[in-house]
Amino acid sequence: MYKFLLTGFMALFAQAALADLIILQYHHVADDTPAVTSISPAQFRKHLQLLEDEGMQVVSLPDAIAALKNGQQLPPRSVAITFDDAYGSIYQNAFPMLAKRNWPFTIFVNPGPVDRGLPDIISWDQLREMQAAGATIANHTMEHPYLIERPQGMSLEQWMQQEVVQADERIQAEMGTSYRFLAYPYGEYSLEIADWLAQHDYTAFGQQSGPAGIDSWWQSIPRFPAAGQYANIDTLKGKLKTLAFNTGNAASEEPALGRQNPPSYTLSFQSDDVKLDALQCYASGEGRIEHTLDHQSGEATLETRATKAITAGRGRYNCTAPSKSQPGYFYWHSQLWINTSVENR
Ligand SMILES: [Zn+2]
Repeated sequence: MYKFLLTGFMALFAQAALADLIILQYHHVADDTPAVTSISPAQFRKHLQLLEDEGMQVVSLPDAIAALKNGQQLPPRSVAITFDDAYGSIYQNAFPMLAKRNWPFTIFVNPGPVDRGLPDIISWDQLREMQAAGATIANHTMEHPYLIERPQGMSLEQWMQQEVVQADERIQAEMGTSYRFLAYPYGEYSLEIADWLAQHDYTAFGQQSGPAGIDSWWQSIPRFPAAGQYANIDTLKGKLKTLAFNTGNAASEEPALGRQNPPSYTLSFQSDDVKLDALQCYASGEGRIEHTLDHQSGEATLETRATKAITAGRGRYNCTAPSKSQPGYFYWHSQLWINTSVENR
């Protein structure tokens, strides 16, 4: 009986772990846009083929997030496709490919540029056309500012009303929907902003890498950037087999670098399924960095710190470790750091 229960539990656990959500993030799908945020239409087609070949289930982001928040299982190997900024090439190049496969996707838009009818930005009519074909249109702030750089003399409440609430209202007016989803411009946030969003029932998405699970922090859900240097098929394939560290919905650390640079970082997680002896952490601009581990009765806490200061506008620490129960799968967690002394980051 005990053995039966244990087997049942392990099967359930394996299934639960397999159901973590991979969210891919794109901007332009074009040959003639800035390389760092672009993927060519030919390469994007290969990504879609990879998702099919890997047996991924392309799911609607609102449905998947609602399920995770309710602690419900997702289909095995779930993936959501997202685009930031509503560039014209999404409508021209990506939409026909996605429509052909009948796959849902999400576009995070800035209503300001859409309202001004900028030439490289999708129109409300085109957004409605994609919505009718299964796309989700969600909030990327009104004007795409660095949210952590609040204008002088403006309260947090005024700033959030101007950039977040008004954008939601414009989307609601044009599309008839509001998901209370926000993708942070540049993936940047502060704990104060995250807290405001939590209090106002917003779910927010970052640009730090990693999968989402039922224990994610809902104020900066990770996404895997999949364009530019991250468009490589082989590395993307590995990211499709990642699991969320079970961190009990814990908030991230404050991303803005304080006095300590490089920053120390601590992550606590349930470790039953984590191969702790193979855990590795990396810092952007440096590569592998040392860590220490404190481990007892199914809980582990890692501490790590880069040796070089983060001089880029944004940096990240990524930690990964293989799963014990699912060969070929890796737990993955990323912490964003923002170097506010860099102006155009
Ligand atoms: Zn953006």
